[in-house]
Amino acid sequence: MPTMEKAKLCPRCGHPGTPTGIQPGEDRSKVHTFRCDNERCQWNGTGFIVQVLSDGTIPERQPGPKQFDLMQVPGVAQMGRDILRRTVAEDPELAAFLEDKGL
Ligand SMILES: [Zn+2]
Repeated sequence: MPTMEKAKLCPRCGHPGTPTGIQPGEDRSKVHTFRCDNERCQWNGTGFIVQVLSDGTIPERQPGPKQFDLMQVPGVAQMGRDILRRTVAEDPELAAFLEDKGL
């Protein structure tokens, strides 16, 4: 039975993932989400989840890593747009560049 210390390691590179949130899962379980921030990892920026059952145990990772595209997570795409908008507001050169490209 994996412990949280082990479960939160990136399935790809083994570095501890950065916690990005906890959501309620099925049957009173909790779904912890992590993101790998190891710049040398192929999964850099990729999220993965660790499910903790209601009794506190963590099931073995399913075959086939449960990675997900961060952009599929509700709110993340909007967050990205907000960040881009703020960046553009602070960077006239970038704004001009994007306008030039019709973006
Ligand atoms: Zn990694």
